[in-house]
Amino acid sequence: MASSKTLLITGVSSGFGRALAQEALAAGHRVVGTVRSEQAQRDFEALHAQAVARVLDVTDFDAIDAVIADIEASVGPVDVLVNNAGYGHEGVMEESPLAELRKQFDVNVFGAVAMMKAVLPFMRAQRRGHILNITSMGGYITMPGISYYCGSKFALEGISEALGKEVAPLGIAVTAVAPGSFRTDWAGRSMMRTPRSIADYDAIFDPIRQAREEKSGKQLGDPHKAARAMLAAIEAETPPAHLLLGSDALGLVRGKLAALEQEIGAWESVTISTDG
Ligand code: NAP
Repeated sequence: MASSKTLLITGVSSGFGRALAQEALAAGHRVVGTVRSEQAQRDFEALHAQAVARVLDVTDFDAIDAVIADIEASVGPVDVLVNNAGYGHEGVMEESPLAELRKQFDVNVFGAVAMMKAVLPFMRAQRRGHILNITSMGGYITMPGISYYCGSKFALEGISEALGKEVAPLGIAVTAVAPGSFRTDWAGRSMMRTPRSIADYDAIFDPIRQAREEKSGKQLGDPHKAARAMLAAIEAETPPAHLLLGSDALGLVRGKLAALEQEIGAWESVTISTDG
């Protein structure tokens, strides 16, 4: 077995967070997981002797530093932080209130950044550590009806990649993990759906909403296989800055990059006409 590590994973009540915690515990690691209720805390700690839970909403920014300091003092140094907590907002952009955009970014972006800021001083002191940010294929490709979600995941991809360049000289690796569609609670209980109000968008959006509802629970990806892939990245000598998970993510992201390359080429002469 590879050396035992302490993983801090946000959002271990279900989905990827739960699966990664279970696979990591089975592989001999210790897991501190965050949850949002005392019941979920008891459920998580009942999984395994090496499972520790802390109640934390990642948007409770003022509470994060103390929770991390307490984990470092009472459990031990965090070797790996996994920013997994997040959710999807679904809604046509024009129909979706700005308050929903703020909420989406508070959880998916500000929460993840606040966690990284709290953990980094400890990782820097040790000159080692690994941060995994769970983004999405929606951090590369976009679809109508999830503009706020894609915006949040593009943001986390960008922050993750830039941070990786800042902390690599300090012995800390940062990996943005971008899954395709997986069988978690993402499109079910966790999704925030803005109600419809503008008939002009019926044709483009209604089939998308319906298809996502119907597919929930039947997606291609297995979260436990994703968890094992993440553990492989954690064990890697040189962890990747970006890791796609799922053949759907692979095909769609490659398609996006090819289309982008083609458009860049088509407009190249205009692009370079602005120099000088
Ligand atoms: P999930 O089963 O709904 O799990 C989401 C987890 O995040 C839950 O533990 C939830 O806690 C927690 N959470 C949500 N908001 C939180 C907050 N404000 N503070 C703390 N915890 C919070 O869905 P999942 O698919 O595993 O989602 C995990 C991550 O994967 C998300 O970032 C999601 O965007 C990303 N992702 C999912 C897919 C997919 O197809 N499933 C694809 C790409 C990316 P509660 O139980 O308390 O709600």
